[in-house]
Amino acid sequence: MDIYKILKTYFGYDRFKTGQEKIVKGILEGQDALGIMPTGGGKSLCYQLPAIVLEGVTIVISPLISLMKDQVDSLSEMGITSTFINSTLEEDILQERIKDIRLLKYKIIYIAPERLESYLFINLIRDIDISMVAIDEAHCISQWGHDFRPSYRNIPKFINSFIKRPIVSAFTATATKAVVEEIKTLIEFKNPVESMIGFDRPNLFYEVRKIVNKADFIANFVKETYPDESGVIYCATRKSVESLTLKLRDLGFNAIGYHGGMDSETRNTAQESFIYNRVQIIVATNAFGMGIDKPDVRFVIHYNMPQNMESYYQEAGRAGRDGEKSHCILLYSPSDIVKQKLLIQNNPVSLERENLLYKNLQYLVDYCHTNDCLRNDILKYFGENPDVENCNNCGNCLDNSEMVDITLESQKILSCIYRVGEKFGVSLIIQVLRGSKNKKVLQFDLDKISTYGLMREYKEQTLREIIMTLISRGYIITTLDKFPVLKLSNSSKEVLKGEVKVFHKKHLMEEKKEKKVKSNIDSIMENFDNELFEKLRELRYS
Ligand code: ADP
Ligand code: MG
Ligand code: ZN
Repeated sequence: MDIYKILKTYFGYDRFKTGQEKIVKGILEGQDALGIMPTGGGKSLCYQLPAIVLEGVTIVISPLISLMKDQVDSLSEMGITSTFINSTLEEDILQERIKDIRLLKYKIIYIAPERLESYLFINLIRDIDISMVAIDEAHCISQWGHDFRPSYRNIPKFINSFIKRPIVSAFTATATKAVVEEIKTLIEFKNPVESMIGFDRPNLFYEVRKIVNKADFIANFVKETYPDESGVIYCATRKSVESLTLKLRDLGFNAIGYHGGMDSETRNTAQESFIYNRVQIIVATNAFGMGIDKPDVRFVIHYNMPQNMESYYQEAGRAGRDGEKSHCILLYSPSDIVKQKLLIQNNPVSLERENLLYKNLQYLVDYCHTNDCLRNDILKYFGENPDVENCNNCGNCLDNSEMVDITLESQKILSCIYRVGEKFGVSLIIQVLRGSKNKKVLQFDLDKISTYGLMREYKEQTLREIIMTLISRGYIITTLDKFPVLKLSNSSKEVLKGEVKVFHKKHLMEEKKEKKVKSNIDSIMENFDNELFEKLRELRYS
């Protein structure tokens, strides 16, 4: 049988995308398969093509209920019989479908993982000829992944319930080494073929911007760069989705909101309006986007910093699936850290997992502060070793803003960390340096702490910025707790001794404290968040 002919006649493509052929061939030789390929890499074809060729039925497990119907529709356009089973079906339709499945009317069956919890259901299909079980979004099985779905844990049992073990294939776009290992262990692969396609998306231009008035920035960016093209704006909360949508509409944009608090009809309408270009911009929480195949998204802007690099990579990766140049901009403000920490706190999990969440958050905070190549920073997170130091195709590589020497400031900060015994977090260090009269600060023997008040004239924001910069460059290390403690690293000495100089972007260094009180709303918000920050910190010291 000629897989190229099938590729052409059913799918209309002349050649495979990177990694597809190996998987397809492996499966057709009866091997299990694991495909780790970026969003838009063409994972669906890796199981759909073999499903057409294999004798029996292929079951696809997917968490993306809202997309099952689309998948089934497009398969039927290709002349492939398929159906889906999920919680949206009425009981009589469900019974009808199961009957048809047992009559082998379908070649491919999409199943929501929740279905695997039902013995009744499993019993109804366990004796039919299932040639393959394909697991889409396989990272959902991993506790360490960013999107753990407990019902995915039923998959191994499901696979073993068949009289004859089917071929097993699994696919994901986001998998760190730990996640890949967990997928492999839990799914009990038998000698799988693997395609691991690099995480680089050369057509995506990554950028981090520290912006106070984010809505205005977005408006200008879209008007100037992509006046007529589609984009997604991700917000951390439903409330900001709603307010930003209104604001963008006021500014004359055709924007629509999308979040988990809307009923499914409203969400579907929003999603379709976006996919069929009836609106230009969709403003959404992370509830939007998994599995969405809109090739011509030209920009993905993060209005807030997300919780970890995996989520960021996946969400940003929805831009430019057609391979054309697209922008991924993360609008960062320090208050995002507080927001994300609160989200972590309000979502009770085991201590071990909580610490992992904080560690993952810190990686993204570092991403926001680094002056190094952003693309490489992303690739390193996924365990890749980039071949070049600068991609020359990201916000940092192309940034030629004026740099200033902050070695002296860095030395003062590092000595302060040393003087207080490497036992405290960012806020306390800043308080000491600024000569705060706070009780916690006054309890020190201030004569010994010779750095007390040494940086009085600096704004708190500026000091925070420098400290974050030093962390992202490894001159300060942080413990992995909820409230990280600052410690010196081996390379701190080089800075303290003046062997290396530290530079930072001038425009991010509003050096001296402003005398007059700011009265605009931004400064109120800024202070509000700092207060919150302090409260969070105090929990640790009390
Ligand atoms: P993923 O699930 O990996 O994110 P999809 O399976 O949704 O990606 O495929 C992304 C896009 O790539 C789809 O529009 C699909 O039709 C297209 N595609 C898949 N395989 C090929 C191929 N061999 N040649 C060209 N386009 C392809
Ligand atoms: Mg997919
Ligand atoms: Zn770069």
